[in-house]
Formats: sequence, C-alpha cells, structure tokens
Amino acid sequence: MSNDNKTDAASPATSNFLRGIIEADSATGKYAGRTDVNGHALPQVVTRFPPEPNGYLHIGHAKSICLNFGLARDYGGRCHLRFDDTNPAKEDQEYVDTIIDSVQWLGFDWQHGSESHLYYASDYFDQLYAMAEYLVTAGHAYVDSQSAEEMTANRGNFGEPGKDSPYRNRPAAESLALLRRMKAGEFNDGAHILRAKIDMASPNMNMRDPAIYRIRHAHHHRTGDKWCIYPMYDYAHPIEDAIEHVTHSLCTLEFQDHRPFYDWILERLTEGGYFKKPLPHQYEFARLNLTYAITSKRKLLQLVEENVVDGWDDPRMPTIVGIRRRGYTPESIQLFAERIGVTKADSWIDMSTLEGCLREDLDAKAPRATAVLKPLKLIIDNFPDDLIAECSAPVHPHHPERGVRTFPISKELWIEADDFMEVPSKGYFRLYPGNKVRLRYGYVVECTGCDKDGDGNVIAVRCAYFADSKSGTEGSANYKVKGNIHWVSVAHALEAEVRLYDRLFTDPNPDAGGKDFKLALNPDSKEVVTAYLEQGLAKALPDDKFQFERHGYFVADRVDSKVGKPVFNRAVTLKDGWIK
Ligand code: ATP
Ligand code: MG
Repeated sequence: MSNDNKTDAASPATSNFLRGIIEADSATGKYAGRTDVNGHALPQVVTRFPPEPNGYLHIGHAKSICLNFGLARDYGGRCHLRFDDTNPAKEDQEYVDTIIDSVQWLGFDWQHGSESHLYYASDYFDQLYAMAEYLVTAGHAYVDSQSAEEMTANRGNFGEPGKDSPYRNRPAAESLALLRRMKAGEFNDGAHILRAKIDMASPNMNMRDPAIYRIRHAHHHRTGDKWCIYPMYDYAHPIEDAIEHVTHSLCTLEFQDHRPFYDWILERLTEGGYFKKPLPHQYEFARLNLTYAITSKRKLLQLVEENVVDGWDDPRMPTIVGIRRRGYTPESIQLFAERIGVTKADSWIDMSTLEGCLREDLDAKAPRATAVLKPLKLIIDNFPDDLIAECSAPVHPHHPERGVRTFPISKELWIEADDFMEVPSKGYFRLYPGNKVRLRYGYVVECTGCDKDGDGNVIAVRCAYFADSKSGTEGSANYKVKGNIHWVSVAHALEAEVRLYDRLFTDPNPDAGGKDFKLALNPDSKEVVTAYLEQGLAKALPDDKFQFERHGYFVADRVDSKVGKPVFNRAVTLKDGWIK
C-alpha cells in the first residue's frame, strides 16, 4: 500500500486521521476481494463527494472534495461525484453544472480507468422505494398518520422518551397499502409519512422512528412529476453509498448522531438480501471554518441577493467560482487542504493560511511584471527628449531559463504616489528632494523637487538621472542607493482597470454567535483604480497570473478582460497586512 504521509521540511506531516483508518482497513483486508454485480473487482477505497445541487460550492466544500478525491487518488481507489438530489424544491440544473465545473477545476474527475462515476441520487428512486416496501413488509417501517404537531409532541426531548404513535402497530399490509397510495398521489403533503420502526425511547433522537419517506407534490429537476413522495436524506444516503460500494463515507461532525441510523438501515437491508458485507462505514470530520469569511449557503445567497457583492463569482466570495476569479489556483487550494489536515475537533482556520498557500504557489510560478497602481508623474529633466532606452528584467528571478522581459524608459515616467515625500518621514528611503533612488532595472536618479497645482497638491516629481548608472552596465556598481522604486514610461504604459480586493469582512468571525454579518463588512474590500502597466501585459489572457512587483499577485479577470485590454484583480498582497 502506498505511504503518502511523506514528511519533509517543505510539507510538514499534516494530521489526517482518516489515512490511519484506511491503512488499517487495508492491512486487515476489510474491503479486499469485493466484486460488483458484473463480477468486476472493486477497489478497497471508494469515497464519494455528495453535494446537494442547491447552491454554489464554497471553500468548505473544497476541503471535502480534496479529502474525498485525494484519499481515493492516494490509495488507488476511486471517488464518485454524486448529486444528492432527493429534495426537489431547492434543486436546479444550474447548480449541477457549476458543481461539475468547480470539481473539475480543482483538478479532480470521477473517471476510474474507463468507467465514469458520476451519479444522481434521483437515479436510485426506484430502488429506494422498493427497499422501503421491503422494510414495511419485514415490519421495520410503518406509515404514520399523525399530524406534524402530534408527531413533534410525541417525539419527546433530550432526557425525555418519546411516545409510540397510535399507528405504530398497524398491520404491515395496511402500511404497505397506504404507502402505495401515497406514491400514487392520493394524499396531500403531510397527510401520512413513512417511518422506520426503531425505538421511541432511544436516547438518540435520530433513532426515535425517523421519517424515511414524505409526501411532496413537487416537480423534480430530473424526474419531473414522476414522484410525489421523496426519500429523506438520512434514509437515502446510506443506501446510495451501499449501492455504489462506497467504503469510507466521510461527512462533517454534525452527522455523528446520525451514524446509528446509517448502520441500522444498512443492517436491515443486508438481512433482506439487498446488500452484502462489508458495508460502507461513515466517518465524521471537522468542517472548515475560515476566519473573515462565511460559509453558510444561505448567508452567501443573502450577500448575492442583496447586492452586497457582485454575484456568486465576485472575487471576494468564498465560493469556488469566486476564489477562482480572484486568482486562486487549484494547486493552492489543494495545498491548503493538505496543510489544514483533517481532525475530529471543530476549529477556525485563519484566512492568512489560505492566502499564504496562494502566495507560495504563485511565488514559484507567476511571471513578474510592473504596475503603477496610484500614479504620479516623474520627470527626468536631464533625460534627452527623444531618447527611449530599453531596460530588461527577468521574467522570474529564480528561473533565468524563463528569459527576460523588456520595456522602454523615457523622460516621463509613472511612479507610485507614495514613492515620493516632499518632507520624508524617519526611515523613508525613497524619493525626496536631495535623495537618490534606483529606478528598478533602469537608472539611478536624484530627486530635485516637485511641481504643485494651485491647491498645493504635488502633480509631478522632478529628478536628474545619471547616464552611466543603468542596471546591468558596469557603471551601475558605482551607485549605492537605499531606495529602489518601480515605474513605467508614460508614453508606453498600458492603461488598465485594476481591482484591489481585500477581505470582505473586518471581523474574523463575522457570523459567530448569530451576529449580523452585514455589520462586519469591510468598506475597503474593493477599490477600483486606473493603473499604468508594463506594456507586455497587453498580451495577458484571462486567468493569467502575475506578480506585480512590490504589490502582490494579480490575475487577468476571466469575465471582463478583452483581447489586448485586460482587467486585473488583486488576488493577494505580497505580505500579510492583517497580522496584528
Ligand atoms: P446544506 O446546508 O445545504 O446541506 P452543505 O454545506 O452541507 O449545505 P452539501 O451540498 O450537503 O452542502 O455538502 C456537500 C458535502 O460537502 C457534504 O459532504 C458536506 O459534509 C461537505 N461540506 C459542506 N460544508 C463543509 C465545510 N464547511 N467543511 C467541510 N466540508 C463541508
Ligand atoms: Mg448538507
């Protein structure tokens, strides 16, 4: 068996208790030698990612995707993508499409050899129903005809046993006839419900005769109007897992108390000959909570509907479509999932961990470029009016084989407004009258003053250059300066819209304890500037990522960029500005 818990300095061993379980199961051969109905050998690790197609996936789902698909990959198994579409009202094809797209973008697929393992729970409706009839016949389920209020009242409470329904012991034949009439559409929603017959006094509320089928006259996005009864999630989920020969069924901690029912259903159906042992086993792990973000589908929907953000793929959203547009890479998300590990204790992961993974990934990959985001004009008074000199810089400082980029320098340049101070503060090494700095990859200049408008605002900075100081020439070594600033030539710059995104919330736990997360919105989460960029960036294609030197990592927006006219999003700054 492969041992993927590699340890080295760059990737410290992360805890993932599920690896231990899978390795132990494989050591004992728990799932060895299984075959499917056609006699084909089944892998010893079969996982699944089971989203309900009722919303966009977010970074929490990404953890689950990386976990399920990652374990299958690492242990030579397979992972299924299964749409858990048993609740007709909220589900839609739009969500199915975006989920497929997001999982693929993250770098995973559901192919195993030549087989495709994409499933829909709704494809099992016939089987789920047949098994329900079996449970009724075998005395393990009954149709309850209490009202919803009666049922709630009789369910009891923690520490207080429930009361048996007066219909609990109706003959199986009577329940079966009613179930068939429910299916045939003879009753209104809520008139009857099919329940498992377990124990109304169980200390686990989930075992007090849980509902397994309810009447719901609703149109389903795949089965149309064929059904007017739909299975409950807790009933359908274990069966879907067993039908697909899942071995390790991973879910978040809140389902721990549901596991006894998961096991109960599969035991009864195995007695009935529907399944063979070994059965799937449910394991629970801590969901991802990320600071400065919210990961509740309902609250994300609220942000979209109230136009707090510009849609599901707003680059500030923690949705997969949002972080993708923001400039995150699949590799950075996989690195993040690996790094945070998998535990059984709920905790908060700091947003800076996620951002750090992106910096790490892009530092190694992203070509460098120059961008002036808050421009101020710099005039080199002694630079010949018609001189255009070529400067060059490495595409990537650690990869000389990636070549150089070239750009012209001329008499008038754009520099960052904050690279000049008329009266320097202590420790300021950049442009101020009398000080010398290097224009990165160009010449050393000495500041001689500035021009102001009638209100006293600085509108241009003046300097003189040293013709023998050009970077890469012999003379350059004679100049020792402390400041090194970036610039672009006014006549050659590419003007572009750049969106400076930051965290959406200022509170690390915006919705903790039922707080109103809209009070914690960061007013500076989006700033749009007109920037001047190195001319080569005109060739940037949507999704191309760059390090804008001294600023951070930026991506050509995948929606708004046009040929020759990219729009850039700031994915993350070079350094964490949120550390307290
Ligand atoms: P809902 O409240 O609509 O059920 P959900 O976030 O649970 O929302 P699902 O589509 O049911 O959405 O989730 C699919 C899978 O993703 C589930 O297995 C779930 O456990 C997992 N998942 C959802 N949110 C997180 C999270 N924050 N961290 C880790 N896994 C998550
Ligand atoms: Mg769910």
